[in-house]
Amino acid sequence: MADLDLLVLGSGVAGLSAAVRASTSGLQVGVLTKGELEQSATRWAHGGVAAVLGDDEDSTDLHLADTLKAGAGLCDVDAVRVLVDEGPTRVTELIALGAVFDREQDGTLSLAREGGHSVARVVHAGGAATGMEIERALVEATQTTAASVMEKWLAVDLIMEGERCRGVIARTPTGERVEVRATHTLLATGGAGQLFSVTTNPEQATGDGIAMALRAGVPVADVEFMQFHPTALHHPAMPRPLLSEALRGHGALLRDKDGKQFVDELSPRDVVSRAMSATMATQGVDHLWLDATGLEKFAERFPTITASLTSVGLDPATDWLPIAPAAHYLSGGLLTDLDGRAAVQGLWAAGETACVGVHGANRLASNSLLDGMVFAARVVEAIEAGAVTPQASGAMRAVLEGDGGIPGRR
Ligand SMILES: Cc1cc2nc3c(=O)[nH]c(=O)nc-3n(C[C@H](O)[C@H](O)[C@H](O)COP(=O)(O)OP(=O)(O)OC[C@H]3O[C@@H](n4cnc5c(N)ncnc54)[C@H](O)[C@@H]3O)c2cc1C
Repeated sequence: MADLDLLVLGSGVAGLSAAVRASTSGLQVGVLTKGELEQSATRWAHGGVAAVLGDDEDSTDLHLADTLKAGAGLCDVDAVRVLVDEGPTRVTELIALGAVFDREQDGTLSLAREGGHSVARVVHAGGAATGMEIERALVEATQTTAASVMEKWLAVDLIMEGERCRGVIARTPTGERVEVRATHTLLATGGAGQLFSVTTNPEQATGDGIAMALRAGVPVADVEFMQFHPTALHHPAMPRPLLSEALRGHGALLRDKDGKQFVDELSPRDVVSRAMSATMATQGVDHLWLDATGLEKFAERFPTITASLTSVGLDPATDWLPIAPAAHYLSGGLLTDLDGRAAVQGLWAAGETACVGVHGANRLASNSLLDGMVFAARVVEAIEAGAVTPQASGAMRAVLEGDGGIPGRR
């Protein structure tokens, strides 16, 4: 195989957003992914995408402030500014590509409020099936644009020649070990929830991209910040079914063993998960309760969640739902600058496997799909512009300007 212009590893929102954009601009793009194209955490995303697309009540400044607050002082402000400013355009492009988001009767996008957001700004699809719709649209576009799609291929190690990345060593579906060479390689291999015994993440989320980077000596950051989602269904199924943040946004309540409320339901995830862990330890129980009995039109608004509850014999209209925190999102990853450049030339990262500085110590709800869309697009724009040298921006500033390794510190 001739060298590709861009080899994309992973087929979630980050990888496929980059693949479609780059292919459409005429680059020779290969997508290599370890399952089938649609297998990704993206497909499982429930609540939606946070972006300022609504009325005057909201602003990108407010979205920025909410993101910084959730990140506990460790976000890179410039990176968050890029995220909130460029996010609305990326969502609009996704709609133009064919993704169908829920709308109100007057045709405007339907907006939900989630924990940590000061206003309703989360666009969603199919109630709580947003990821499924985004992945569907991106897979369809990839199949018609990418030069090659390598499904069920496992990326194993980066090919490093001197100080440059030249592609990957991969295992084919028949177990052969081959080189896939490219001028540019984008790591978009997602998170690492499967490293934990209890997680909401699908089986593909094993941190492979970060492991490959570490073996090649490429710096990563903030990997200690694994976010635990507070409302995973307490049930033997793995991955744990997620009871979306949107339920609390619509008024569902958290109750302790005795039925008492113990935390503000609309606090960021880390705050709620910590309050739950402390309450569970004090009360000597392994789960608490989500009370969604007061929510109207539950089945209509949340058909996916209704289906998963029905399959385990729970009725949200009458039953309190057993919940416990589960490993959900890796806030850190490969250290990148604001265009997704990793610390070695030819290597780029975007999405959950990257750390550009937007999430700090704790990602704000529904900022992850947005992160993938925004920074994947910037990767492609930088490649097209021939701007390949890592810059002292975003989380990369910590490496290139030696500011103590703390992305938010300036
Ligand atoms: C249940 C659930 C609900 C969520 N809800 C939301 C939400 O409402 N809003 C939101 O913003 N975020 C949500 N998230 C988080 C969000 O879905 C993910 O962070 C995001 O989709 C990550 O996108 P990605 O493209 O970086 O990675 P992924 O979508 O995980 O894609 C990674 C890809 O890399 C491939 N891969 C991995 N290793 C290799 C390898 N070695 N070789 C080749 N390919 C490999 C995988 O097969 C996969 O295709 C949710 C996550 C979960 C699990």
